[in-house]
Amino acid sequence: MELSFDDFMGQSAHTAKLRADFSHGKNVHAYLFAGPRGTGKKSVALLCAMAAVCRAEEGKRPCGVCGPCRRMLSGTHPDFHRVVPEKGKQSIGVDVMREALDEVGVKSFEGGAKALVFPEAERMTAQAQNCLLKTLEEPPAATAFFLITDQPGALLPTIVSRCRVVRFHPLGIQEAAGRLEQLGIPHEDAVKRARLSEGCVGQALEIDGARLALLLRVTKDAFSVHAPGDALAVINSYKEDKDGQRQILDVLETALRDILMAQAGRAALCEGLYAPEAERYAKAVPLSGGLALQEALTQARMMLGSNVSFASAMEHILLKISEEYTTWPW
Ligand SMILES: [Zn+2]
Repeated sequence: MELSFDDFMGQSAHTAKLRADFSHGKNVHAYLFAGPRGTGKKSVALLCAMAAVCRAEEGKRPCGVCGPCRRMLSGTHPDFHRVVPEKGKQSIGVDVMREALDEVGVKSFEGGAKALVFPEAERMTAQAQNCLLKTLEEPPAATAFFLITDQPGALLPTIVSRCRVVRFHPLGIQEAAGRLEQLGIPHEDAVKRARLSEGCVGQALEIDGARLALLLRVTKDAFSVHAPGDALAVINSYKEDKDGQRQILDVLETALRDILMAQAGRAALCEGLYAPEAERYAKAVPLSGGLALQEALTQARMMLGSNVSFASAMEHILLKISEEYTTWPW
């Protein structure tokens, strides 16, 4: 994917200001980018870091073509550091933090600025955060810190107060679809992905064709259950498919989220995203039925969590669907 500051322009006044600040070397030393997954935080951090090391003239950074810019894009710039947990660990401990901050202490390799990015800042332990805090209190020259998180509440207030906080938001569905089309995704597919990701373009890009196919398959199978006897065939069709089993509840939850919106009269189901059986369900069954099904889904998830078999958990959901069919046939 081609990165350009302009792709993110208009997302918020903040990002426009970021571009201007970095382009003119007027940035502060620490930023906290907060917002849901897939809203452009990492891409914007990379662009800011590029602007910080770029050799183009003021106002034209990042140029994307000079040596430092190209090394940033290929991930080989020696003054750009990503701070992540050690392999096999969940959190960023104080040792990893010290090592990263040591890099800040030494002279820059290319003689320009340095950038440290924390792609999942919420993974820092309290001890690691306190270690970082000392550096943020006495920031080294020409070094930019980017703390990125979808859980800003996991950071110490003292850390947050040392950063300029920039909030990232999902785009509207139409806007997200437009952005995806610009990235070369065909219109119909772009609309489906925008709907599924609720406007988080980064998440939309991660959705693969198999996921879209599974949405159609699962909604067709589930909402074709009209009597208790239909359930077994559906369960058996997933018997050998461990991958499908793992995803089926997620997929049903995604579908039901949209179905509930349709039942509440908020938005029609996205055309072609779900099987026609699901569209008929959404039209025939009132909101109370959708909510009862959601309850059954939650119970099924708890059943799976307490080691009940996949077949029993699925049966619980499918029997609820067949029960609803007798009241509101679709
Ligand atoms: Zn450049």
